[in-house]
Amino acid sequence: MKVLVIGGGAREHALCRSLSLDPDVTALHCAPGNAGIAEVAEVHPVDALDGAAVVALAEALGAELVVVGPEAPLVAGVADAVRERGIPVFGPSAEAARLEGSKAFAKDVMAAANVPTARAYVCTTPEEIDAALDAFGAPYVVKDDGLAAGKGVVVTGDVAAAREHALACGRVVIEEFLDGPEVSLFAVTDGETVVPLQPAQDFKRALDGDEGPNTGGMGAYSPLPWADPKLVEEVLQSVLQPTVDELRRRGTPFSGLLYAGLAITSRGVRVIEFNARFGDPETQVVLARLKTPLAGLLHAAGTGTLATFPPLRWSDGAAVTVVVASHNYPGTPRTGDVIEGLPAVDALDDAYVLHAGTAHDAEGRVVSAGGRVLSVTATGPDLATARERAYEGVALVRLDGSHHRTDIAERAAASAARP
Ligand code: AMP
Repeated sequence: MKVLVIGGGAREHALCRSLSLDPDVTALHCAPGNAGIAEVAEVHPVDALDGAAVVALAEALGAELVVVGPEAPLVAGVADAVRERGIPVFGPSAEAARLEGSKAFAKDVMAAANVPTARAYVCTTPEEIDAALDAFGAPYVVKDDGLAAGKGVVVTGDVAAAREHALACGRVVIEEFLDGPEVSLFAVTDGETVVPLQPAQDFKRALDGDEGPNTGGMGAYSPLPWADPKLVEEVLQSVLQPTVDELRRRGTPFSGLLYAGLAITSRGVRVIEFNARFGDPETQVVLARLKTPLAGLLHAAGTGTLATFPPLRWSDGAAVTVVVASHNYPGTPRTGDVIEGLPAVDALDDAYVLHAGTAHDAEGRVVSAGGRVLSVTATGPDLATARERAYEGVALVRLDGSHHRTDIAERAAASAARP
C-alpha cells in the first residue's frame, strides 16, 4: 500500500514511524513533514491546507491511502477533496470535523445523543457572559468557540480573568467545572463501526505540578494503571458509539479518528471535548503500544470495512513520552536554535525521538522551528521503566533555552493509585 500522510508534527512522525514498520506499506510519503519524518518517509513541500495541492500530490504518487493528521486541514476540507477523487482517506469531512472546530456544535451533538458532558452556555454578549459566570461560580471554565490548538481555554478562580478572556473571544462557551483526572480515549471509526484504542493521559499545563498556562500537551503515558478496566467499554457505549450514530443520523458521518477528552469525575465520566484527529502527544504512546499493523486499520476506516477488521492487538508494556519545548513556549517561541544529541537518544534501547517543530538549516543541522520541538518516547515492561528511559533520552537532548516537564507519569508510575 502506498500511503501519504498530511502534516508535520510529532503526531505525524509517530504515524509515519508506525506506518514505516508495517510490512504492507510499500511506499511512505508525507507533506510537508519535518526533519525527523524525512528519515522514515519521502517528504514533499506541499501546503497541508491546500486541498487541490494535496489531491494533485496523492494522484501523482498513486497513493492508496491518505492520512490527514492535524485539525486545520480537516476543517479546511482536505479530506473531502481527497475523498471526492475516490482515494481512500483517513480523516473526517469538514462538516463532521466541526465536532472539534466548534465547541458549540459539539455540545449540540452531545445533547442530541445524550452523551454526558459539562453543562454549558454559549455566550456572545457581556450580559450573557456575566450571567453564565455567575450561574456556575468558581472555578470558571471559559472556552473560545473556534479552533485554538488547545490554548483557547482558560480555567481560573479569578472572575476578572475569566471575564476578560470571554470578552476577547467573541463567541464563547462557559461551562461547569469538572473535577477528577482526565483521560484521552481515541477511537477509529468508519462512520458506523467504532474501534476504541487504549486510553492515555496527557499533561496540558506548561509546568510541573500542573502549574502554568495550558499548552498543546507536554507529555503523555499509557496504559493508565489507576483506571477502571471497564472504562473503555463504558465510554464506547455512553460516548463514542452514540456520537458516531448521531453524526450519521444527521447525514454527516464521521470517519477517521474520534478523540474523546474525558474527565473521570466523582459523578461519573464526562466529555470535556472532542477532537477529530489523533491527539498529540497521546498518539506517541498509544501507537507505541499498538501491535496491529497501522495501515490496514486506517484503510479499513477509510473504506468503510471496519466491521470485519480483526480485534486489535496491544503490548502489555507501557509507553511514556516527554515533550521538549522551545524557549518561551507556549508564548511566542524562539526558533532557529541548533538541536544536538538526537542520535544518542535513538541509540538507546526502547527510546526514540519524534520530531515536532524541527527543520534543517542551510548547513544541514537540525534546528528548532516551533513551540513543541520534539518528544522523546520510550517503552518498557512497566510505566516506571518507560519513564526512566524517556527521561534518560531527554537528558541527552541539547537545545538552548528549552524546557520540559520533569513529572510526566510520575504519580502513575509510583503507584497504581488514581492521580
Ligand atoms: P479543551 O480544549 O476543551 O480540551 O480544554 C483544555 C483543558 O482545559 C482540558 O484538558 C482541561 O484540563 C481543561 N478543561 C476544559 N474544560 C474543563 C471543565 N469543564 N472543567 C475542568 N477543566 C476543564
